[in-house]
Amino acid sequence: PDLITVQELAQRMAMRSTDLIRELMKQGQMVQANATLDADTAQLIVEDLGHSVKRVSESDVEEGLIDKPSADANLVPRPPVVTIMGHVDHGKTSLLDALRQTDVVAGEAGGITQHIGAYQIKGPNGDPITFLDTPGHAAFTAMRARGANVTDIVVIVVAADDGVMPQTIESINHARAAGVPIIVAINKIDKPGVDSTRVKTDLLQHEVQVESMGGEIQDIEVSALKRLNLDGLLEAIQLQAELLELKADDKRQSFGTVVEAKLDKGRGPVTTLLVQEGELQRGDIVVVGAEWGKVRALLNDQGDQVKVAGPSLPVEILGLNGVPEPGDQFAVVAHEARAREVAEYRQRKKREKANAATAGTSLEQMMAQL
Ligand code: GDP
Ligand code: MG
Repeated sequence: PDLITVQELAQRMAMRSTDLIRELMKQGQMVQANATLDADTAQLIVEDLGHSVKRVSESDVEEGLIDKPSADANLVPRPPVVTIMGHVDHGKTSLLDALRQTDVVAGEAGGITQHIGAYQIKGPNGDPITFLDTPGHAAFTAMRARGANVTDIVVIVVAADDGVMPQTIESINHARAAGVPIIVAINKIDKPGVDSTRVKTDLLQHEVQVESMGGEIQDIEVSALKRLNLDGLLEAIQLQAELLELKADDKRQSFGTVVEAKLDKGRGPVTTLLVQEGELQRGDIVVVGAEWGKVRALLNDQGDQVKVAGPSLPVEILGLNGVPEPGDQFAVVAHEARAREVAEYRQRKKREKANAATAGTSLEQMMAQL
């Protein structure tokens, strides 16, 4: 059932919760600010206080926010989105940095200019590959928990000198749960005396049978530090991507997912988005989680302004009125009123959830005191 807290109801009538609580008391209801009322009770009170009621349900607001794909969708190939996972210190960050430096454009621009949480490079065959620069399982699971399955391929890094470790296994399980194909990158092969066979046999114990052991999962030996065989890894990614036949419709309404967001002193909310469908353009009005705004600027991972961003391209956008959360969805909408309606509705939902959570704690605390 639809529930609303006393606090929230007061807020919507632009009155103080204490005044509303007093009104409720007059009607014989003893409640606290964080108590919840059902929709019918709330409606009676609101009408008693001389306000008119407009009930808005989730489906009213959320429905149709993202268009259904059309039957004659204009599907075109899109770059793969790759996440690198693995045990701590096995070389995730080093590998992400090394891969980024294989990109001629990035090199010419003077190396890594900035960190935007995701970047795109050109692979050996000239096709682009997008990397989510959010190694760490927290980000991956947070996104998945919010229904954002943006990763197409997981590269699991295993240090040859350390072998399969707890977070290696965790990574394998995350990738499996998400139904995302795995590529194993055996790293640190530059170290003297390392034996990658041990890694491969250990992986067998976790039902990961790599190609060099007669299985189907690609395994590539690399050194992020000495920059050995990075092309081999990129080729493996491109091969896997070809098998997946990844496609998107670049002509439809644009939507995608928040990779990272922060508040910048000078620029305001800065949000890294991964476009999944359509083309995001400067000037578009977007709803992003519980925030909205007009896209004032689009910046690629080099920090350069771009006018449009198509599928699988990560871009930083400026112009939102607040900071969304990683894993939030964005969608382009037709006009500001629509954007505001959705964002306000979601803000309200968030407040209600937060209030309910506080109510829960205080109840637990009360119980603890008994
Ligand atoms: P992360 O925790 O998985 O992100 O691992 P890092 O990228 O921070 O690397 C951990 C340590 O391993 C650092 O000291 C790196 O310099 C080192 N390292 C990473 N890759 C290699 C490699 O290919 N060879 C060697 N010898 N050391 C590496
Ligand atoms: Mg790291």
